[in-house]
Amino acid sequence: MHSFEIKTKIKFGEGSLKALQEIQNKKILIITDPFMVESKAIDKILVNLKEGSYEVFSDIVPDPPIETVVSGIEVFKEVNPDVLIALGGGSAIDASKAIMDFSKKILKTNDIEFIAIPTTSGTGSEVTSFSVITDKQKGTKYPLVSDDLLPNVAILDPELVKTVPNFITADTGMDVLTHAIEAYVSTEANDFSDALAEKAIKLVFKYLSRAYKDGNDIEAREKMHNASCLAGMAFNQTSLGINHSIAHVLGGKFHVPHGRTNSILLPHVIEYNADIVGYTNTKYSMAANKYAQISMLLGLNTSNVRMGVKNLVNEIKKLQREMNMVTNLSQCKVNIYDLSSVENEIAILAINDGCTKTN
Ligand code: NAD
Repeated sequence: MHSFEIKTKIKFGEGSLKALQEIQNKKILIITDPFMVESKAIDKILVNLKEGSYEVFSDIVPDPPIETVVSGIEVFKEVNPDVLIALGGGSAIDASKAIMDFSKKILKTNDIEFIAIPTTSGTGSEVTSFSVITDKQKGTKYPLVSDDLLPNVAILDPELVKTVPNFITADTGMDVLTHAIEAYVSTEANDFSDALAEKAIKLVFKYLSRAYKDGNDIEAREKMHNASCLAGMAFNQTSLGINHSIAHVLGGKFHVPHGRTNSILLPHVIEYNADIVGYTNTKYSMAANKYAQISMLLGLNTSNVRMGVKNLVNEIKKLQREMNMVTNLSQCKVNIYDLSSVENEIAILAINDGCTKTN
């Protein structure tokens, strides 16, 4: 027996931030990163809240470390909010989830409304049960997994994403694509998750390079924001695969942005998983068949499964070229000697990563 649930209420489209006006007579804590405050992007949230009803904690950094979560718990205990608003990319939302989860246990309360407002179109964290926290000492990332981490409400307002620089648009957009593809070939994939993943994949190929080329293209921004959320809903059901297992370890060790690491790995992981070398035309792996189905969905030449897989890989590389993306780790200033000195450790950590189980 399988089940499919979506706990998070999703408000989307231009103007959806107005949903915040429904919060009345509540104490609010906003957790965000410094950019949101310095750029005044946070004002788009604050205009919808009653003056004096909120406190702001804005110390979240990319790949949030345990230390930031600990400081956030102290602020949470002091404010003791009724409503928590997580504003930012995956890092701010993930840190908020961990801060809230530990604080609720300390304060012995369950009564907190959690609203996630993503400002990147990438992680889908606004609808997932995951929070990825970095252990700087050990140089690795730990996913916390619990349905208690799911936001009650996600607000997807494309207005907030317009300021994302083009290289972050590219990185985060490739994260969306990796989520959707890994969900589609996961051992836990099913008709419901496939429907979400298929739509996300189509949206990425149609709108990502448009959002990259013109950050003010509000239609492209909105579609990529929706794609990110759809892919998040898909992988929340199916989990992911070794693309993410390896990316988690590399992210923790070398701090290459998460989406960029996923993007570099994606063509290699597809070729590895499809295992098309040595297969006859009639005997392909489940993954190879699913990759070929994605090609068909995109209208690419799929006269046989092998062709389908190859054309999917080529289409991904084309998208990367359109966005001037790097395609190997040395272009990300990862020293090959540093990498080879820890490759066994990386392999062991990646094998033990939770995402490997569903590859
Ligand atoms: P991020 O949150 O780390 O942000 C990257 C940079 O973009 C930051 O410098 C931030 O200030 C900036 N930024 C964010 N919004 C902006 C905006 N609107 N305008 C201009 N700049 C903006 O990046 P991310 O890719 O969204 O999140 C990555 C993190 O999420 C990683 O730690 C990753 O492991 C995690 N993750 C979580 C899940 C999940 O399900 N919880 C899934 C995938 C990844």
